[in-house]
Amino acid sequence: MFNPLEEIKKLNNPARFVFEEVSCYLCGSNNCEKFLVGEDDLTGKEGEFLYVKCKSCSLVYQNPRLPVAGIKEFYDSEYIAHRKKKDWGILTPLFERAMTKHDREKEKLVKKYCDLNAHTEILDVGCAVGTFLLHLNKKYGCKISGVDFKEGLSYPDFDKINFYQGLFYEQNIPEKKFDVVTMWHFFEHDYDPNLSLEMAKKVLKPGGKLIIEVPRLDSRTFKWFKSKWPGVQAPQHTALYDKKCFLEMLKKHNLVVEEYLPYGAFPAYFYIFTGMYFKIIGKGLNLNKIIFPYFLGQFLLSPVLWFQKKLNLSMQTVVCQLP
Ligand SMILES: [Zn+2]
Repeated sequence: MFNPLEEIKKLNNPARFVFEEVSCYLCGSNNCEKFLVGEDDLTGKEGEFLYVKCKSCSLVYQNPRLPVAGIKEFYDSEYIAHRKKKDWGILTPLFERAMTKHDREKEKLVKKYCDLNAHTEILDVGCAVGTFLLHLNKKYGCKISGVDFKEGLSYPDFDKINFYQGLFYEQNIPEKKFDVVTMWHFFEHDYDPNLSLEMAKKVLKPGGKLIIEVPRLDSRTFKWFKSKWPGVQAPQHTALYDKKCFLEMLKKHNLVVEEYLPYGAFPAYFYIFTGMYFKIIGKGLNLNKIIFPYFLGQFLLSPVLWFQKKLNLSMQTVVCQLP
């Protein structure tokens, strides 16, 4: 029988990495087969990580994985979501616009399904520096809370956020408090997605909405880039969800999906650009060097990107409503 702990020994990893075996997050089975080997292509850090496919339910997940304490070094200040404000010279306005556009896309998506006003209580799980929450607070007066396991986060106005530091499912958050809980690219990083879904149900008010965006394994960009697909992002991504497993995971927790979207707020172009970069040039993306080709490529591809919501390029989002 395939043994993940034996298999990982064949890969190239420093001796300080101690791995733990994981059962399938969806069905609990230990019967799995090799799927692919992934690396931290974004920052270029060392390590080769194993993704397996569950033989009983087909979920793809990282197995074995680094324990929670061991994963922290992969979320240092180089990690893209945690980057602070920076001067990009002549391209600064373009870069800032791309960052605020991401928050505006999240806002558009949420607003379609939820009322946003001064009474709205919103919790963003995996909020990083909190720009999305601050945007909603500024525009609608929403009451904003965020949770992130990263310590020492800072940003202008970060203190306006009711912030919880640590693992989501270990937080002491009041029950039935929130109208909306969002998870933008949090769920695929989660060490216990089952506990997190239960926690989300607990902190939401009756009728409250849970919005989750994750990369989509059965998307075009995965077919193009395979192990160099930016959605692999090892070792941070603990599971890679296709549509079927993603929906089954929610069903397992009795969450009713109001809407399934074959796209997200995250720009599909980022996966096209970085996937090509990892495949052709290699791992370790130096933002300083690629920022110009990045925006040039985006401009050239804009006629295609206009239809990105219909092309199943890279992301998926669900909107769930609590009874
Ligand atoms: Zn399974």
